[in-house]
Parts: sequence; structure tokens; C-alpha cells
Amino acid sequence: MKVTVVSHSDNKLTLLLEKTKPAVANALRRTFIAEVPVMAVKDVTFYENTSVMPDEYVAHRLAMVPLKTDLKSYKWTEACANGDYSMCSADISIDEAGPKTVYSSDIKTSDPKIKPISGKIPIMKLMPGQRIRLEAKAVLGKGEDHAKWQVGLAGYKYFTTIKADYRKLKDLKAVAASCPVGALKVREGKLELDQVKCTHCNECSHFVNDPNAFKLGFDRTSFVFVAETNGQMTAKEAILQSVKMIEDKIQSMQSQL
Ligand code: SF4
Repeated sequence: MKVTVVSHSDNKLTLLLEKTKPAVANALRRTFIAEVPVMAVKDVTFYENTSVMPDEYVAHRLAMVPLKTDLKSYKWTEACANGDYSMCSADISIDEAGPKTVYSSDIKTSDPKIKPISGKIPIMKLMPGQRIRLEAKAVLGKGEDHAKWQVGLAGYKYFTTIKADYRKLKDLKAVAASCPVGALKVREGKLELDQVKCTHCNECSHFVNDPNAFKLGFDRTSFVFVAETNGQMTAKEAILQSVKMIEDKIQSMQSQL
């Protein structure tokens, strides 16, 4: 398999996966979405809540705040899934009084590395005289158990193929201009396709003078793969973690066999 990084920022990674199979791209997608462990609030103890919001609402909102996750210091194991959080949790707390809007920046954590990805996420409003005082555990978990533990989203699409008979095709510029996302260019008398931009919309095939001279198709051995995290870790870290998890599963199967 050939892997090419097309673009990457902290939270988003676009790759070309060539000479491989849909099963490989799909294993990577599924592992990324469902199995990369991230921190999220699990158990909340309320000592005081005189706001208009019930405890359950506040707990749910806290749980949906994405937290920076450090997989070098915290380890997800079966023990963690079974309620032993000694290796996989950090303590958080909130103690605020109204009038104010409580934001994610008001969350205090026992480990400065485990903190909300942004301080601007509103959690609740407190009116004069109202107070919220709580403690909670941020615990490593997996997206397959709850969306709050989902690191982000990943997806892939097949490469688009163009079969064109350039002796019969006329006005290539008009065909290229018909593409709504600018994926087609004319270069040296031929159509050049940007695989990342192409959405398989088929619009360009309506602008050819001879439909028999132009055919769009799929290359089922090559994929544009896009992975984006919510910010708990970088997209690169999450992809590498996904690859490691697939590798671990295969090694475990190999040793058992
Ligand atoms: S299929 Fe759609 S997106 Fe792709 S090149 Fe043709 S017009 Fe552009």
C-alpha cells in the first residue's frame, strides 16, 4: 500500500491510500471512530446545584465537553472498562456562583494536561444567588460505548477514473468548467482530475459532446481518506493510535494461532 499525505493540520489529515483494498480503508475508519480511547466525564458528584438545570442535564453537558487526552500518561485497559480507573482517570471540579455563565474554562482539573479543548464552551447559566459545586471523574473510554468518547470522524472515497477518447471529445475547457468543485483542469490536451476535490457528482459527463467518448468510473484499489478529530488529540496521533490498535489485534490473533 502506498500512503501519501495530501494535507494536514492539527485536527485534520487527508491521505491517499493506493494499491490496497476497501477492507483496509474501512478497518482504519472504524478503528478511528470507535476504538481510539479519549477522556470524557463519566461520574459526577453534585454537592450543590441551586441552578434551574437538573443535575442530569449538567452531567450530560459536562460529558460532551471534549477533553485533551494524553495517551502516554493514561492507559486504556480492560480494567478501565470494568470500573478500575486507577490508570485511566483524572479528577475535575467546578465551584462557581452566579450571576455568571459557567464556561468550560471554569473546569478545574487535577492534571493540567487533561483540560477542555476550548475554554469557550458554555455549560450553564447561574442567576444571582445560585451556585454549582461538583466533582467528577474524567475517564478514558471508546466511541463504541458512547459518542462522548469518540475522537472524531473519518471517511474515505474511491478514486475517480476517467476514460476519455480525446480524438472524439471537443471543447475540453467547457467540460472542465462544468465541474462545480473545480476538480477538472485541461493540461496538454487532456483532462486532469483532482481526486481530493472530486465528489463523484457526475456533472461533467453531461457536458461532453459524445457520451461514448467519456466514461467516469471508480478505482476500487485507491482511496482519499479524511480523518478529523474534535481536538482531544491531533489527527496524526489518532491515526497512528488506530494503526497500532489494528496491529495489536493482528499480533494477538497471530500468537494465539
Ligand atoms: S464527477 Fe463531479 S466533482 Fe468529479 S470531476 Fe466530474 S463534475 Fe467534478
